Order: sequence, then C-alpha cells, then structure tokens
Amino acid sequence: MIIVMKKGASAKQVSGVVARVESLGYRVHLSAGEERTIIGVIGDDRPIDRTHFDLLDGVEKTVPILKPFKMASRDMHPQDTIVSLDGVKIGGPQIVIMAGPCSVETREQIVETALAVKEAGAQVLRGGAFKPRSSPYSFQGLGEEGLELLAAAREASGLPFVTEVMSPEQVPLVTRYADMLQIGARNMQNYALLQAVGKVSCPVLLKRGMMSTIEELLMSAEYILSSGNPRVALCERGIRTFEKYTRNTTDINAIPVIKEMSHLPVILDPSHGTGKWEYVTAVARAGIAAGADGLIIEVHPHPEEAWSDGAQSLKPERFAQLVTQVRKIAEDVGRC
Ligand code: PEP
Ligand code: MN
Repeated sequence: MIIVMKKGASAKQVSGVVARVESLGYRVHLSAGEERTIIGVIGDDRPIDRTHFDLLDGVEKTVPILKPFKMASRDMHPQDTIVSLDGVKIGGPQIVIMAGPCSVETREQIVETALAVKEAGAQVLRGGAFKPRSSPYSFQGLGEEGLELLAAAREASGLPFVTEVMSPEQVPLVTRYADMLQIGARNMQNYALLQAVGKVSCPVLLKRGMMSTIEELLMSAEYILSSGNPRVALCERGIRTFEKYTRNTTDINAIPVIKEMSHLPVILDPSHGTGKWEYVTAVARAGIAAGADGLIIEVHPHPEEAWSDGAQSLKPERFAQLVTQVRKIAEDVGRC
C-alpha cells in the first residue's frame, strides 16, 4: 500500500505518518518527489488495514499496490531512479554505454580494449572474471586474477567496471574490486545471491533470465531492493524463443514495459540478445529508440581469438561506429 501525502505536507506530518506506520510493525519506503511525498508501507502479504492511515494529518489518500513487486514499482517511486557509479549516472538524461570483452583473458587484452572503448565513447568497462558457462569444459574465467586485471584496466583508462558475481560467497571478493556487480541471466533467480548483493552498497546490474518474464525480473529486483540496496539497474539480454537464426530474441518490448512499470533504469545487451556481431548495431539502435537508458556491448580487439563469445563481439572500430549512431538516435528521442 502507498500513502500519498497532500501537496505541500509538512515534514512533521510526514514523520507523524511514518511513526504510525512503524508502530504497527511495517517498514517504510519514503519517496519525496518535487510535488508530494509518497510513503510506501511494506509488510508481508497480509492485507493492511487502510483505515489506520486514511485520517492521519496531511494524508491525501491511501492506495493499494496490486502488483507483486512494490519497491521496484513506479507506483511507490514515481520518479526515475538514477544509479551512479564513479560519476557515471545510469538513468539520467545521458545514455550510458558499457563495453568490453565477454571474458578477461590477458592484461594486454583488457587494457587495450578498455582504452579503445573509452576512446570510442564508452563510460563503463565490462569484462567477466567469473564466467557462467554452459559446459564445465569451457573457459571459466580467470577469477581473482581477472579482477586484478580489470582494476589495472580501470587505472589505465579511468573507466569504472562492471563484472559478474556468481555466488553469495564471492560477493565480498568481487565487491572489493568492482564498481558494479553483474548478476547474470542464469542467476537471475538465485535468491541467496540476490539477497547477498542486496546487503552491499555497490550498484547491481541485474540481467533478465533467458526464460523469465518481465514480472519475474522485477520480482528479482525486489529481492535486492528489499534487502537494502537501492542501486539496481535492469538488463534486457534476450530471451529464448523458437527462432534459430539468432542466439536469443531481443525483447525490445521489455524496454517500454519496464519503463512504465518501474523506476529502475534499463540497459539493453544486444550482444547476447542477437549472438552475432552483424546484428548488434541495428538492435542497439532499436533499443535506444525504444527508450533504453544504456547499452552493454561485447567488444574484443581480435574477436576470432576470443576465449568466449567471439561471434557476437565487435571490433573496436565497429563499436566506435555503433556509438556514433546510437548517440544520434539518443538525441532524437530527447536524450544525449
Ligand atoms: C555475459 O555478460 O557475458 C553473460 C554471461 O551474460 P548473460 O548472463 O546475459 O548470458
Ligand atoms: Mn558473454
């Protein structure tokens, strides 16, 4: 349930309502907008008696939230959330472009890629040190050494980095190095992991599971938010369909749907969404036109030699063209 305060309600009226909510054993989620304050009342699934609040001083109305996700919902938090990492603002007017290799392979590879994507206009470096691979015989990532190499690439390029964390036990280690934690598609419903990243203050990029609905993605975000970490960005990375000419089917629909349902920023990953470098730029353009807050793109200096996902990785020159094209589209849709 949300409690909508009257326009111009005083701080005293707001704190009076908050005190009442807490005295009844509920948690409060405050959203102070320019016009009015909204107080989210969070309990478990049991119905909340609205008459407790309807008549309190400064209250305009109480509204039940019918969606299963609450803190992720725009009802509770009407204004867009901006997730900041090291000065980069995800969800603000500027489109944020994250780029880098699927996996960190060597110092030369990650530093060279970081400098190239920076030069092309990326604001965040990506690279996997812990890799969730379908086969146990595939390259699993360099682990902590990969995190050290990412830190070296950050030092060389000035770009903050996002990297995947695969288990709750890895959270303290990865958080020591990373500017943003990635939850991969395969772990979107790993609830222990969601709760663990919900207990740290590092921003989280939560990728949609390959067989998950938008509602399930938002429920997973709810786990992180309700565990205490408000710094969540969502990522559409393609879902599995009957189509075989592409690795996944990029669900462009998800972008405007999520933007309507939720205040959290949305990043599009056309690299995993298509699985083929030839289609990445076209789908990236579509994503920005559809309202995505940014992109995450796989880039490798020598895709033919990549240790993972070479087929969907752009060479730096092609990535630079992508950036130029999507920045133009961003302007056309009122972003920059
Ligand atoms: C990745 O980003 O390299 C990755 C493994 O992505 P996903 O979890 O979306 O498959
Ligand atoms: Mn990949």
